[in-house]
Amino acid sequence: MKQVIIFGECMVELFQLVDNVYHQAFAGDVYNTAVYCKRSAAQQLNLKFLSAVGTDLVSDKLIAQLEQEKLDSSLVFRSKTARPGLYMINTDCFGERSFVYWRDSSAAKQSLALFRQQGSLAQLLPADVFYFSGISLAILSPEDRTYLFDLIKELKQSGVQIVFDPNYRPALWPDADLCRANFDKAYALSDLALPGLDDHKVLYGSATAADVLAQLQQLGVKEIIVKNGPAGVLGYSDGKSFQSPAVPVKKVIDTTAAGDSFNGGYLSGRLNGLSPLASCQYAAALASFVVEHTGAIVTKEQFRSFSGRFNLSTFS
Ligand code: ADP
Repeated sequence: MKQVIIFGECMVELFQLVDNVYHQAFAGDVYNTAVYCKRSAAQQLNLKFLSAVGTDLVSDKLIAQLEQEKLDSSLVFRSKTARPGLYMINTDCFGERSFVYWRDSSAAKQSLALFRQQGSLAQLLPADVFYFSGISLAILSPEDRTYLFDLIKELKQSGVQIVFDPNYRPALWPDADLCRANFDKAYALSDLALPGLDDHKVLYGSATAADVLAQLQQLGVKEIIVKNGPAGVLGYSDGKSFQSPAVPVKKVIDTTAAGDSFNGGYLSGRLNGLSPLASCQYAAALASFVVEHTGAIVTKEQFRSFSGRFNLSTFS
């Protein structure tokens, strides 16, 4: 069975149903990716979530949710001083969504400090993949970021494939220069990168997906998937580039987690022996299904209806 470590934050989500009535769920970029990766691969993958929560009731529920999704929670550390981050999604009378976050002092920020005290490299090995994002980086202190890069170097030397999605969130970085410096370090250590073109337009001034490809090739990334919404992806692997289209949808309902679900589907495909192109095709089918539904994570029942039509073997 393949071993995957996914590092970052899962938050409490409060989604407005009607005025002053909210549905509570759990979500966060890397958590969304973990869920879609695991759901896509069923028995064949062991996914360990590396993070931290508190010792409160909501933290217990978050861990129970990970376990419900069959994610391994043995690397989710408990902070005695912090609780999970929270965000609220409100929808105005025009259907326009807005997000408000309470994550400045979330427990996940302490993940690596707690891992240093209570965990060990041996708990991470053996592993096939270590997955993290620009958000996982952004929430760390500068010292913990340095520690993370050193840890990733050690994992890489042990043969673990490093996978990175920049997921640029300007509000989480004090300035763009610091963010670029950290992303460049992350890319230079990555075997597979899954950037969105929009992120690179804002952060690096890239004009096209080809610009992003060229930039990451320069940094030595061997497998690159540049996502560009409904325009599909530009991929690169084994020294060759390729295009893979998005799957058109009748009506876009909610683009939350389009990129995260694509990443989960892509990883699952690759870890189950699909080619980069076939993995993109599966991932695009999954992401198009996700944008046709509300919220980051579709229900298990909705996912079953998707996998009744498309699964990894459809594309192998
Ligand atoms: P990111 O948020 O990481 O930048 P994208 O917005 O590019 O990711 O979306 C990831 C994938 O989701 C796309 O490559 C595509 O397959 C799918 N997707 C996103 N928006 C749409 C859409 N409007 N219609 C169909 N597929 C979409």
